[in-house]
Amino acid sequence: MTQPRTYRAVGLTLRKSPAGEADVISSLYTREHGKLDVLARGARRLTSKLMGHFEPLTLVRLSLARGRTLDTVAEAEVVNAFPDVKADYASVARGLHIAELIDGFSASSSANPQVLDLALQTLRVIGSQPGVGDGGGASDLPLRYFDLQILQLSGFMPELYQCVECGAELEPERHRYAAGAGGTLCPDCIPEDVAVRPLSLPALKVMRLLHRTESVEQLPRLSMPPAVHAEVNALATDTVQYWLDRQLRSQSFIDATNIDATKFA
Ligand SMILES: [Zn+2]
Repeated sequence: MTQPRTYRAVGLTLRKSPAGEADVISSLYTREHGKLDVLARGARRLTSKLMGHFEPLTLVRLSLARGRTLDTVAEAEVVNAFPDVKADYASVARGLHIAELIDGFSASSSANPQVLDLALQTLRVIGSQPGVGDGGGASDLPLRYFDLQILQLSGFMPELYQCVECGAELEPERHRYAAGAGGTLCPDCIPEDVAVRPLSLPALKVMRLLHRTESVEQLPRLSMPPAVHAEVNALATDTVQYWLDRQLRSQSFIDATNIDATKFA
């Protein structure tokens, strides 16, 4: 059976790059087809109807024509441009973190609608948070929630309840953590070939809470000491970077907005 020449998709733009004189290649995560690279002809012309449709963090409804190498955008309609997220640099940086992780953890043409739903819900929560970059309290928890859930959806969720080596239940304040070993360890099982870090009980409890909370909208507002928040940030970021096998580009952007927020506070 031959495939139809055109098809439809709804997807979130993860990134875009210029192509040719005025074209754009956009990488999206779509509900129907997973990660998809599409060609938007003339989208960089100021007069183009597609202008702005492929900015990162824009949810678009597309009609696509199959092409020899890339499928081409026939029609596009913005469903949600997330203006609240794009209203300040700190939120944009966090939105780009989401896009970078989806890009990194998703294989082409393998669709998981849960990934898109998780991204859209987290973007909505980030957009609704006042002063996400002010460095205060629980502002990065939605992002950490996203980290753990995308690890879960990709099959890389770290163990948080037992020692990954011997299976022993963890005893309070006697645990370690190694992303490269697959999660928590007891003090008797410290592998030599992976980076092991201490893990405080409060940080472990926050990680468990993030893992078992049903949706990002249901995250409780936690007041936790800045040191615990920093530890959870570092644990999640380390784990994500370990599995992606590279540093996150969006992290330096987030760090910069945190410094700026402190400076102007
Ligand atoms: Zn052990």
